[in-house]
Amino acid sequence: MATASGKANWNERICRVTNCPRPTRARDRLCRSHSAHRRTRLDLSVEAWLQLPSVRALASFGDCRVTSCVRAADGQRGLCGAHDKRWAEHRQACPDADFDTWAAVNGPAGVDHIVVLKGLPIRVQRELLVMVQQRTDEGLRTFLTDVRYLAELLRARGDVPAEADPAEQPHDLPATVLRTINEHLPVLQTRSGLAERRIVELLIDTGRRPDEVCTLPWDCLDRDDNGKPVLVYTDSKNNRPGRRLPIAETTAQLIGVQKNETRQRFPHTPPDQLVLLPCDNANPDGTKPMHAETFGNAHREFIDQIADLPLDEDNTPFDRRRVVPYAYRHSYAQRHADQGVAPDVLRELMGHRSMRTTFIYYRITETRTRAAVEKVARHQFDGTGRRVFHSISGLLADEHARLRIGQVAVPFGMCTEPSNVKAGGQACPYNTPAWAAGSSAATRPTWPSSSPTYSSCSPTGNASAPPPTSRTGPANTWPHPTNRSTSCGR
Ligand SMILES: [Zn+2]
Ligand SMILES: [Zn+2]
Repeated sequence: MATASGKANWNERICRVTNCPRPTRARDRLCRSHSAHRRTRLDLSVEAWLQLPSVRALASFGDCRVTSCVRAADGQRGLCGAHDKRWAEHRQACPDADFDTWAAVNGPAGVDHIVVLKGLPIRVQRELLVMVQQRTDEGLRTFLTDVRYLAELLRARGDVPAEADPAEQPHDLPATVLRTINEHLPVLQTRSGLAERRIVELLIDTGRRPDEVCTLPWDCLDRDDNGKPVLVYTDSKNNRPGRRLPIAETTAQLIGVQKNETRQRFPHTPPDQLVLLPCDNANPDGTKPMHAETFGNAHREFIDQIADLPLDEDNTPFDRRRVVPYAYRHSYAQRHADQGVAPDVLRELMGHRSMRTTFIYYRITETRTRAAVEKVARHQFDGTGRRVFHSISGLLADEHARLRIGQVAVPFGMCTEPSNVKAGGQACPYNTPAWAAGSSAATRPTWPSSSPTYSSCSPTGNASAPPPTSRTGPANTWPHPTNRSTSCGR
């Protein structure tokens, strides 16, 4: 097995011209350029041709651009012959394919006799080696095909983080930004019109998609059995008409005002043909809704105009590129998540078919993590009946940036070894390939998962909360010898 992080030239032949680094697959063992040159001088023997002063080494095309590939590139495109062919086939199947994405996850070529770890994060490479070492120490055989399969699996996922928990750019807007936008809505109204302003207000209030708000029919307001207002709209993405969203009374009032205004503007149009927010141009009957793109442009100009105002929490301008109409939907989801709305309810509110989609929409903020931790902490005791979470609040203040309290990511899951957590993961004995101790069944690695599921050891088990401290271990922890006998309740 080879880690093959450098040039290994497995199954690869190099041009026979002295020092020419280019690969060859031809019978004459010449790279393509030299082969072409050779064909012009077939009157000479190969040996005589090689002696010609004009036959000189050529510049390399570099390494193949496929991350996992150990071969040299064979052309301007920067791919080896095999990958050049694969890319051409892939492009034919998916004309929109992105080269970089493809090159990052495509497997190595022509190396069926070895396992190529190149292209995998260095930590994952090490862990694979440790695993093989550990199995060997235990007298177990590890088949090359199995390791290669695991490497391919990890590579194809393409989501193995190089570093632990990269900070993700949130899509929602901070409350301060929303407040500034709200305060300056008259600017938008003056610039573009009242309809544009109302759309922003409705986007903020309802969290619907921009085109869903733009195309609301005039008769979009209903009441439920308790007399509470409901917005009736069409789920544009899934083509589901008649969707009902509970809304606040203030939002219903806003819609009511807009309904009256539109009715007065187009008194002769039957209400069932009228739209709530008619566009201004070529729309004599008020039946044409504002185009989401038209609104998007007006919104962009508006944000550009107010972007220099202090918007952020620390009074600095907020990145205006993040203030897009869709951000109001993300903010809506985040706001509800922060208020403790359960994921299944939030999924319903967002109109998602799958919970997975809903999870994309919000982050678990530290406020929520803290609330969850303290909720669990009140019920958590260690093996001797002693409270173990008394200092959680202080810990949180210190470890502000670390969302997942008391743990850091190590290659095979989460490490909860306290000294390692303190060291930000660098002190993890599992991080070094030299480690090969404690090889019992209990320390067998659990395969890493991109979205680890946590299970709390608490008898009151809050499954959605991250494991609070080093005393409890998440389900996919690779237990450390030092904390294998954790005091997890029963
Ligand atoms: Zn050559
Ligand atoms: Zn290649």
